[in-house]
Amino acid sequence: MAFYYKLYIIHYRLAVAVALALLFAGAARAQPAKLDMAWPTPNTAFMQGRGIEAYIQPTASGVTTSGLYGGTRNGGRRFHEGIDLMPTLRDTRDEPLDAIFAVLPGVVRHINLVPGNSNYGRYIVIEHPGVSPAVYSLYAHLSAAQPGLRAGDTVARGQRIATMGRSSDVIAIPKSRAHLHFELGVRLTDNFQPWYDAQNFSGKNKHGVWNGMNLMGFDPLDFFSKWRTGAAPDFRAYFARMKPAVRVRYVTRTVPDFTRRYPALLTKPVPPGGVGGWEIQFNETGIPFAWTPLGATEIVGIAGEARIVWKDDAILKAWRCKSLVLNQRGAPVPGRDLRTVLGLIFGQ
Ligand SMILES: [Zn+2]
Repeated sequence: MAFYYKLYIIHYRLAVAVALALLFAGAARAQPAKLDMAWPTPNTAFMQGRGIEAYIQPTASGVTTSGLYGGTRNGGRRFHEGIDLMPTLRDTRDEPLDAIFAVLPGVVRHINLVPGNSNYGRYIVIEHPGVSPAVYSLYAHLSAAQPGLRAGDTVARGQRIATMGRSSDVIAIPKSRAHLHFELGVRLTDNFQPWYDAQNFSGKNKHGVWNGMNLMGFDPLDFFSKWRTGAAPDFRAYFARMKPAVRVRYVTRTVPDFTRRYPALLTKPVPPGGVGGWEIQFNETGIPFAWTPLGATEIVGIAGEARIVWKDDAILKAWRCKSLVLNQRGAPVPGRDLRTVLGLIFGQ
């Protein structure tokens, strides 16, 4: 009896162990696969897990963090929308020679070869329809694009697209600080030109919808870090981890092209009867990362009205480089940067 009892216990334990193993295997399978990504330069320091001093190019301040994303400049007041990556190779005249690689497969959307036409200098934008949301990657201050590369070309992950440089419009970048300015982000609108025309800027828009004003970068190093550890194996997971700084209720019957371009950012489908507005969550830099459509009966107000329904004061205070919320007679109203994003997305 005792023998069979023991055998029973062993079998029982074995069965539990097998069940648990199957359960964990199932959970592992349910995890999205980690994207195949390339680093945009030949520098292997990040992938090896070395410190930022080994790959981030600081500004003239010499402070390494000044080359990072965010309010990293002018005492936190100036926003830097990407990361600056230093060269690893130079020619006899000390100019950078590093190849620049596409980080993911994608479609070349824009190549600007006239440095004076943008503060990005020579730059290339690639859109990545194979990932969701279909983010863009941007490579700036190039010395040259890869010969023969044209807008509309498809590129493979790790394909050489350019050579690192220090091209810019008005602010000269010295040889010693040559770098790649690298961005990952989302594009706000298909109707950029009417918005641009309404702003009365002095110069012409020479970059179509790929003008930097229409592009919103998130922190590429934060993404790459969470991707490397598996905390955010893809962009959908990365956006799902974003924290709201502001929640806005916006009155409109419009379904903006932004939500059609990035359907992964919808919290639920657009109702067949159309919308009366949106509840939009913005992260600390004003990226509209979560969109909830509201039915016509769920929201009242004048079209174009943006009401702040929730805000995180600690986050807003920490991000002084962005003006998302202002106080108007004791009530929170959208600040300059939030109004710009809403204006671009909804065409107002
Ligand atoms: Zn930069």
